[in-house]
This record gives sequence, C-alpha cells and structure tokens, in this order.
Amino acid sequence: MSLKDVLWFDPRRIFIDGEWRNAAGGQTIDVENPSTGEVIGAIARGSSADVDAAVRAAQKAMDGEWGRMTATERGRILMKMSAIVLERADDLAMIEALDVGKPLHQSKNDSRALARYLEFYAGAADKLFGTTIPYQNGFTVYTLREPHGVAGIIIPWNYPMQILGRGVGAALAAGNACVLKPAEDASLSSLAFAEIAREAGVPAGAVNVVTGLGTEAGAVLSEHPGIHHISFTGSVGTGMRIQAAAARNVVPVTLELGGKSPHIVFDDCDLDKAMPTLVGACMQNAGQTCSAASRVLVQRGVYEEVKRRMAEIYRGLEAGPAVGSHALGPLVSRKQKQLVSSFIDIGRKELTVAAEGVIRDDASDAGNYVPPVLFADVSPDHKLAQEEIFGPVQVLIPFEDEDEALKIANGTEYGLVAGVWTKDGGRQMRMARKLEVGQVFINNYGAGGGIELPFGGVGKSGHGREKGFEALYGFTRVKTVTASHG
Ligand code: NAP
Ligand code: MG
Repeated sequence: MSLKDVLWFDPRRIFIDGEWRNAAGGQTIDVENPSTGEVIGAIARGSSADVDAAVRAAQKAMDGEWGRMTATERGRILMKMSAIVLERADDLAMIEALDVGKPLHQSKNDSRALARYLEFYAGAADKLFGTTIPYQNGFTVYTLREPHGVAGIIIPWNYPMQILGRGVGAALAAGNACVLKPAEDASLSSLAFAEIAREAGVPAGAVNVVTGLGTEAGAVLSEHPGIHHISFTGSVGTGMRIQAAAARNVVPVTLELGGKSPHIVFDDCDLDKAMPTLVGACMQNAGQTCSAASRVLVQRGVYEEVKRRMAEIYRGLEAGPAVGSHALGPLVSRKQKQLVSSFIDIGRKELTVAAEGVIRDDASDAGNYVPPVLFADVSPDHKLAQEEIFGPVQVLIPFEDEDEALKIANGTEYGLVAGVWTKDGGRQMRMARKLEVGQVFINNYGAGGGIELPFGGVGKSGHGREKGFEALYGFTRVKTVTASHG
C-alpha cells in the first residue's frame, strides 16, 4: 500500500482561508515512513508569511460568517465533519500508519477517536452556557461564555488525530477560529482533516493548517500578536518556550507536557485482571504516549509474581512494520530511536533486565525499531525511573505499604495520570485523593481513552484541561454582565 493510494489531496500545500495554497517560501520537507526509512512524499515548509496569513484569515472568520454562526450551526458542521471522518476512517488510519509508524489497529482507533471528539463537541456546542448570579436587590447579573478568538493549536506526532480532535474540536465548538501547526513528522492526518473541514462546509478561515518546522512555523505562531489562546501538547522544553511567548502577548495557554505515570499494584488486587493492562498501558504506540504507565510500582507480597508474569508477556511482544499491525510499530523518527536507545543502553549497564521482546525479521534495518524492555528492582530515583523515555520501556519498583507507594508515585517532576489496583475501597479513595496527578484510574488504566474525561497534568506535566466538557471552559472567557433595574 502506498501513500498515493490513500491520499485524496495534495500534501505539499497548506490550508489557509478555506483554500489550498503553496507555502510562501516554496520549500518542502520530506515525509519518511518510519517502518522502512523510505521517503514517501513531502509537505510544505510553512514560514512566518504563511502563519501570518493564517492568523489573519482566522480573525477574518471571527469577524465574519464563522463569528456570526449560532452554536447550533457550529455543532451541525462538527457533526458533518465527524461523519466524513468515519467514512474515511480506514484511509486516515492507513495515512497515519505510513506517516508515523503506528500499527494499523491503533491508528484505526485514532481515526474513530477523532470522529468521536467531533461528535462529542458537536453535541456540546449549544449546551455551553453562563450562569445567573444572585446579587443585591435591583440587579440582574449573568455571565456569558465567549470564545477567545483565534486559537493557536500546536500538536505533537504521537497521537495527531486524537490531539487535533480534542483541541480543534473543542475550540470550534466554543466558537473560536483555529490555526493548527502539526508536528513535522506527522502532518498528513492534519492536512486530511483540513480537507474534511472544507468538504463539511466549515466557513473559510475557521480552520487553517500550516505545516512546517517547530522552530519556524511553530515559534512564529506561538509569538504571533494576533493569537488569543494557545493550546500546546509536546515536550516540557518547548512548553516552557510557548508559555514565555504567550506571556509576551498576555494570552492564556493550555500545556500538556507528558509524564512518568505510575501504575500501582497492591497485593490485595485481582492480578488476573491487572496483568494485561500493566504491560499494555505502556506498550500502546510503542510507549510514545504522554500517559504511558512507564513506572510499575508493586507491593512486596506480589512483586515476584508480577515480575514473572510481566516478563512472560514481554517475551511475546513483537515490533514490526506498522501495516502488519503487530503489538508495536517502529518509533516515529531516527531521533526518537536514538533517544530511547540511549535510555535502554544506560538501563542495560546499570539495571537488571527482567525480559525483553523482539524485533521481527520482516522489520527493515532502516526502520526505527527498538525492542520493548522491562527493567526490574529499580530504585525510584534512578534516571530511568525519573525521566520520560517515550519508548517501550518500563521499570518495576517494589514498595512496602501505602505511604511508600504514594511517596514513590508522587516523587517525580511530573503528574499526569496514575493507576491503582486494589480491592480495598478505603484505600482506593485515599490514593485518589493523595496522588498528585490529573487523572486517577482505579482497577483500570486509561479507560479506553475516554474522550469525555477531562485530562491534563500538574507540575511539569502542564496545566489546563483538555477533553470532555471541561475543555470548553479553557476555550472560552467569561464576561460578567451586571444590569441595574434603575
Ligand atoms: P516538541 O518539540 O515539544 O514538539 C511538539 C510540537 O511543538 C511539534 O508540533 C513541534 O513541531 C512544535 N515545536 C517545536 N519547537 C517549537 C517551538 N520552538 N515553538 C513552537 N512550537 C514548536 O516535541 P518533540 O521534539 O517532537 O518530542 C520530544 C519529546 O517530547 C519526546 O521525547 C517526549 O518526551 C515529549 N513529547 C510529549 C508528548 C505529549 O503527548 N505530551 C508528545 C510528543 C512528545 P516540529 O515537530 O515540527 O518540530
Ligand atoms: Mg513520517
């Protein structure tokens, strides 16, 4: 299967003001297939002139047809987009598999999730309202929830369709116009999304997609004085730069910056239920997941058994070409492979390997494959237990009791999500209260993605909430109207 078989638009152009254009500078960036290392196409390298045109188009949309639409009309357009995404779900999944190396069963899940985000926000658009506030006699006071205006949305390469769905979907539902900058390693599905927006009749300028480099198009977008809100998902370092850029224009930001999430197993839990999840919660997308359960904390009473059973699962894990739909695909880029391999090398020198999976024979040497590796008996302060690896690597850490589990779980710079396995109801509630994270999963992990569930972090995992109804509050500002009865 080649890219040409599934693309129904020209990916070398950018989408501004409702039309496809060549980038002002005329340059392109190669698109590589991470499964084979082959160049399979090219995207436009947008620059500051393109970002500027996109921001202007978005403002024009706010001042024009898009800004005048009712919430119900916005909802209907989002619903149309959702229907088109569903019709094209298989093509979108194949585009993502070829572009970012995501196994087909996972990229199909992403295209369905994109449709669900659009559907959810379609339904939410006209159910977002302000409040009336009891005040002094002689006054009527109410609040209005208004869009910020032009939203800049910068997304990473790991779940492009899901992250653009939750960002652009919520921003549009709340009435904002968007300029989307996808990651240079994963832009094709965002371009497909632009074409779907056009087909669904989104008014010109309400959705703009500018591809290009982070340090060029991304930086210009985050610094642009015409942007009224920035939503960013990616690394801590870039997040800090984005927040600093937003500070200069005094605009709000939502940052989702990853994590080092703990999966905590108490010895009273139902181990048969926990076991597949303990591994799966990190191996999905070859560990390139912000909420990956990369630390597995296990109470001493079941530690050896969990280690043995996880090791068994690891030995059956295979990494192979994305279109083969194996448990793991390749990593997204050579850079990411180098980064993850350097962590694995440190682990091999300093830690105990409990088990590892295999790279399949049909995986090309030029692909970005790494084997999944489980390290055991890891000290909570070891580099591999502290830093986000963003690859198929987990560390097993033993603990004695609830207090120690909490101390280890809360003992990193991050705080995105946590999983807790225990049958003790009181302990479930205590842990949920004391874990310093944005989401707690009790006797499950990830809940199948849950587009309805507010999501975001504390500490270096970021701030603000995406997903669910909560995201709509982030994409709006409140105006208080105080009317005197005279
Ligand atoms: P990144 O640099 O933070 O990239 C995320 C997005 O920001 C991409 O669209 C990127 O564009 C853009 N960008 C880069 N530099 C920018 C700048 N100066 N101003 C504005 N936008 C900019 O992340 P990465 O380098 O792709 O990945 C590195 C690490 O980040 C990973 O190893 C992982 O630890 C973490 N990460 C976290 C998540 C998450 O879900 N929280 C997702 C991906 C990565 P380009 O891609 O075109 O440069
Ligand atoms: Mg690629």
